[in-house]
Amino acid sequence: MENVLFVASESTPFIKTGGLADVIGSLPQALKQYEQLEVRVILPLYDEIPDEWKEQMEYVTTFDVPFGWRNQEATVYTLKHNQVIYYFLANDYYFTRKGIYGYYDDGERFVYFSHAVLEFLVHGDFKPDILHAHDWQAAMAVVLANIRKPVDQMKTVFTIHNIKYQGVMPIDIFEDFFNLDREHIGGLEWNGMLNCLKGALFHADKITTVSPSYAEEIKYPYYSEGLHPMLIEREQDLVGIINGIDTKEYNPLTDPYLAVNYRSARSKKIENRLALGEELGFEMDLDQPLYVIITRLVEQKGLHLVQHIFEEFLQEDVQFITLGTGEQEFEHYFSDIASRYPNKVAALLTFDEGLARKLYASADFFLMPSKFEPCGLAQLIALQYKTVPIVRETGGLKDTVLSYNELTGEGNGFSFTNYNAHDLLNTLNYTLKIYHDSDQWQQLIRNVNKSQFSWKESALEYGRLYEQLVPTPIYG
Ligand code: ADP
Repeated sequence: MENVLFVASESTPFIKTGGLADVIGSLPQALKQYEQLEVRVILPLYDEIPDEWKEQMEYVTTFDVPFGWRNQEATVYTLKHNQVIYYFLANDYYFTRKGIYGYYDDGERFVYFSHAVLEFLVHGDFKPDILHAHDWQAAMAVVLANIRKPVDQMKTVFTIHNIKYQGVMPIDIFEDFFNLDREHIGGLEWNGMLNCLKGALFHADKITTVSPSYAEEIKYPYYSEGLHPMLIEREQDLVGIINGIDTKEYNPLTDPYLAVNYRSARSKKIENRLALGEELGFEMDLDQPLYVIITRLVEQKGLHLVQHIFEEFLQEDVQFITLGTGEQEFEHYFSDIASRYPNKVAALLTFDEGLARKLYASADFFLMPSKFEPCGLAQLIALQYKTVPIVRETGGLKDTVLSYNELTGEGNGFSFTNYNAHDLLNTLNYTLKIYHDSDQWQQLIRNVNKSQFSWKESALEYGRLYEQLVPTPIYG
C-alpha cells in the first residue's frame, strides 16, 4: 500500500472558486479504483465551508505550528466522503474569514497552511509516501517537505494548475515566515522576491501540469509568467496530464439542478432552456441559438476579445447569457450590454453552481476563447451536457476540443488559433452557418455526444508517475 497526501486550498463539494476544486474533489476518488493506493486530502477549514459538512467532521488532533518567531496552533478534523478521507486544518486567525482568497496576507496564510501540514505529518498517524501539492497555496509544503524530511523516504509531486498565480512575497519576510536556514533562500528566490511556486518547481521530485499542451507552452515566455527558465531546467521531470471530470457528478441524466434530465435529446435541452428563461425572467427565443459564457471574469478567459466583437455579433439572431464574477471592468461591461440588449443578453454576476448547471444544459454553444488555459474544465462540462464548445487553441482547450471539419465530419466544437478578436468573430459566424445547416449540425452533435472526458486514463497516468517514485509497483 502506498499513501498519498493531496495538499490543496479548495475542493468540491466543500469549497470551490474554480477548476482546482473540481480536480481535488474528483481525482483522489478516481485513484481509489487502484487498491494499492490510499489517497487522502488536506484542506484549510474555511469558515465558508457549509455546516452540513462541518457537522460531519470529527476531531483528530491539535498541535503547535512553529511559524517564524511565533507559534500558531492548528487543529485537524476529518470526514470521509465518497470513500476518500479528507482532513481540514483549522486556525481561526487565518481561515475564519469571508471567502477564501483575496486578503492582503494570503501569502502568510498559505505559508502557514504548509507549515501546519508539515507538523501534521509529524504529529498525525498518516505517513505519506508521496506528498502531492497543488498550486502556489500548497507549494511551500513541497519546499518544507524536501528540506525538513518529516517522513522517511517521502517523495513530492507538485502540480501547476495555473502558473499565473505564484505566491510572491518580499524577500525580507523570510525570517518571519520560514524556519529555515538562510542557505535555503536561493531555492525560493526569483527576481529578487520570494516565490512559492518557484520554490516547489525547484524542490519537487516530479512536476505535473494539467494538459500536455500547457506543459509545452509554459517553457516559453508568452505563457510562463516569467518562470520558463525553471521549467526548462526541470524539463525531464515535467509532465502534462489532462484533467478529467467527475462524470457521475456532471451528468445531465441525474443532475438534480436541472428542470428536466436528459441523455442527449435536444428537445429536453429546450425544456431546460424554457424553465431557465422563466426563472431568470428572460424570454428565450427558440428560433435563435443560445450561447453561454460561464467563467471567472478575468483577462485570462479571453474576455477582451469578446468585448471587441460582441456588439457586432449581436446583430445576428442569437441570444447570449453570461454567468460569472470577477474584475469590475468585465462585470460592468456585461451588465451594461445586458441593459442595452435586454432581449438578447442576460448577465448573471454571481457564482452559483445550480445556475451554471442549468446554463450548461440549456445552451447550444459554450464560449471560452481563453488567452491561456492550463486545462479548462468548463469546456469538458459543456460537452458532457451536449453543448458545443467554442475555444481558442491553447493549453487544455487545444487538447480536448477538435474544430469541426465540414469535409470530414470530424470535430466536437469550434476553435481558432490566434488571440485575435476578428478570428473569434469569424468563428462565431461560422458556428451560425453550421447551426443552420441541418446535416452538418446533426453530425457535429453526434460527435459532441460521443466526447468523453472521465478520469480513467489520466488517473492511470498519475499512477504511473507515482510508480516512478516509490519502490513497490502500484499497478502490479
Ligand atoms: P478556472 O479553474 O480557471 O476557473 P476551469 O474551466 O478549469 O477554469 O474551471 C471553472 C469551474 O468553475 C467550472 O466547474 C465552472 O463551471 C465553474 N464556474 C466558473 N464560474 C462560475 C460561476 N460564476 N458560477 C458557478 N460555477 C462557475
